[in-house]
Amino acid sequence: MKGIIAKEPGGRDQLVYVDVPDPVVNPGDILIEVHAAAVNRTDILNREGKLGYVKNPVIGIEVAGIVVDANGHGGFSHGDRVMGLVNGGAYAEYVTMPANRAMKIPENLDFNAAAAIPEVFLTAYQTLYWIAKLSKQESVLIHAGGSGVGTAAIQLAKGLSDAFVITTAGADNKLAKCKDLGADVLVNYKEKDFAQEVENATEGSGVSVILDFVGAQYWKQNYQSIAIDGRWVLIGVLGGSTVEKVKLMDLMMKRIQLTGTLLTPRSDQYKAELTREFSDETYELFEKGELKPVIDTIYAIEEVQKAHEMMEKNKNTGKIILKVKS
Ligand code: NAP
Repeated sequence: MKGIIAKEPGGRDQLVYVDVPDPVVNPGDILIEVHAAAVNRTDILNREGKLGYVKNPVIGIEVAGIVVDANGHGGFSHGDRVMGLVNGGAYAEYVTMPANRAMKIPENLDFNAAAAIPEVFLTAYQTLYWIAKLSKQESVLIHAGGSGVGTAAIQLAKGLSDAFVITTAGADNKLAKCKDLGADVLVNYKEKDFAQEVENATEGSGVSVILDFVGAQYWKQNYQSIAIDGRWVLIGVLGGSTVEKVKLMDLMMKRIQLTGTLLTPRSDQYKAELTREFSDETYELFEKGELKPVIDTIYAIEEVQKAHEMMEKNKNTGKIILKVKS
């Protein structure tokens, strides 16, 4: 079969679509013919050789496709349409997936739309509900609102919790999309101080939850924005990971719960449980169109370098898809 690998760790020019060994179907796995994969920041770090935890030389962690070998797993038959997270190997014609992590694709979604769901919706669901324990009608600050995870988080926070959503982004077209998805307050962080906007929008009390992709660059403003007893979940460090002169007393004064998490290196069991709960909670909402995968651009798999370039230049609103099979 063919798949995308990095010839050497490095830039996107290292990505090539070449013959690679067929995947080995171990007990517990099903084999999937990949129709679409999606691009994630993890793939870029993996391409650069900066991740130790994705062992598969074929890049990519999420797919949508059809089952071609159910490998004795009763819940699946040849031809079933499935989507989900894989342990590397997604940018390829075939990939294996732990059977207990495969989600049925809602009837109304094609493979491109389905490939846009697993990583960003599971990350957003896990962060908002398993970690931040977002309750009905609480307030949440979602940074990078136009990102894949941001667009998923806005929809989940509105659709499942009727939360009050404040979101930031660096471009007005991204904020317009966030508005379409239901965000209540939109802040262009390049033009306004988001901490001031949060203060205005919450009458000074701050938000209960922060979904933080930015880290160091936003530390001070996030601290200003969070409410007493707030839950602040760090899931990315796009703005750096070293914070100088942190006063730990500040965390104590506001009784802040600051947590960091990474989904990809979590155990197979954790991902299976998260997938099951997410699928149970959201399948019908996707079917009814109340939750929508957000796609920016669909590239042919051979155009993978362009797809990575788009993400590296922060151009996308929502997901970038790689179409593997027409
Ligand atoms: P994405 O679609 O590529 O969007 C990222 C966006 O973040 C960019 O388009 C840019 O939008 C904004 N951004 C970049 N640098 C920034 C900075 N210094 N300050 C403020 N905003 C900045 O990303 P994604 O795939 O949704 O992932 C979003 C983040 O979540 C990434 O950091 C990713 O690594 C992380 N992630 C974490 C987990 C986990 O389990 N922890 C899982 C998935 C993803 P603007 O134009 O608005 O600046």
